[in-house]
Amino acid sequence: MITVEEARELVLARIAALDTERVALLDALGRVLGEDVVSDIDVAPFDNSAMDGYAVRAVDVADASADSPVVLDVVEYIPAGVAPTVTVATGEASRIMTGAPMPEGADAVVMIERTEAGAADGAPGGTVEILAPVKAGENVRYRAEEVRAGEAVLVKGEVVGAAAIGLAASVGHQTLTVNRRPRVAIVSTGDELVEVSERPGPGQIRNSNSYSLAAQVLAAGAEPHTLGIARDNVEHTRSLLGRASEFDLMITTGGVSMGDLDVVKGVLEEIGELEFWKVAMRPGAPQTFGTIGGTPFFGLPGNPTSTMVGFELFVRPAIRKMAGFATLDRPRVSATLSHDVRKKAARRYFMRARLTKVADCTYSVAVSGNQSSALLTAMHRGNCLLSLPEGKDFFPAGCEVECIRLDMEEGTT
Ligand code: AMP
Ligand code: MG
Repeated sequence: MITVEEARELVLARIAALDTERVALLDALGRVLGEDVVSDIDVAPFDNSAMDGYAVRAVDVADASADSPVVLDVVEYIPAGVAPTVTVATGEASRIMTGAPMPEGADAVVMIERTEAGAADGAPGGTVEILAPVKAGENVRYRAEEVRAGEAVLVKGEVVGAAAIGLAASVGHQTLTVNRRPRVAIVSTGDELVEVSERPGPGQIRNSNSYSLAAQVLAAGAEPHTLGIARDNVEHTRSLLGRASEFDLMITTGGVSMGDLDVVKGVLEEIGELEFWKVAMRPGAPQTFGTIGGTPFFGLPGNPTSTMVGFELFVRPAIRKMAGFATLDRPRVSATLSHDVRKKAARRYFMRARLTKVADCTYSVAVSGNQSSALLTAMHRGNCLLSLPEGKDFFPAGCEVECIRLDMEEGTT
């Protein structure tokens, strides 16, 4: 049996980033940029005011105070969207709004709160009293402060978040080139499975894994394609697994244990290549990986929690690598274990658990319910996988343990 790390390395060695595609700006959200995004203009395109107030020459108001205001003649009113036409000379000011272009001659803006309207209520032709000094450049946003025309606002490989969408929009890009989303086929296996819409008869259960997996695929930024249920015979399993090359990646659940009817591994060996089929972990040791016609293939175990944990550890990093992400793994944090845990020394355990913050950067962790791999509630109530290494069989309450955060997107380690 190989270790979790060995399995992960074998998987990632078989995965390459997909090609790119051009998509509408909003459809790029959460995806990885395939090329630099270059600006067609300076941003900001002109020097402008950061405040509503009066554009002035800073030297004119150096001695201004509430007790002894400096009175300036108002020569122009400049709302946003209008180009100023009057130069501000010594002893003069222009009334200016946030985002409006700075007039010639002025080098600072006094915010409205530090002024008092004088003659004509501070309109052009009247006066304004300045109650406080400003430094040259204060409350002015300069041309090209964000980026110069011809420079990149976003760089290939960066993840497109909401701010990136705003930056791309500000420099005139209505589309972006991003890595393609992996198309992921999902096949459940088992004679006992019925569709979710049906009421299970004797010995039957609903096919819930196709749904939990499709949800994980979606959450990982990929496109799920559920192909239905393969029955536990070689012919039917072969016909569904044979569709792998229509997709970027294929996942099956169930049919990889030691039972007489577990035919997935045999079919994989027949029509593809098997890389490994057992990993020293719990839940879900029979984690199977290989390729079919070059398409990566994951034969996850059937128990609902084993399926989801296998996806987290092996499939999610593969999907992220295909989608072009540099960071493949969830963040990990160290936490204080709330209770004793006994385990088998030979295997890595991934317990479904809940992290709680007890102080800044300090967490405690406790299991979040029954740890049977057939049950999903502990996974639902938890927010992490408590990772307990092989080589030890007892972890006492109070010891430090490592947790993989399932409630966060990506880590830096
Ligand atoms: P298997 O590995 O095929 O023996 O499946 C292990 C356990 O997981 C059995 O109890 C199955 O009934 C259950 N199981 C398998 N596939 C699914 C599925 N798609 N949805 C829910 N449970 C499943
Ligand atoms: Mg089965």
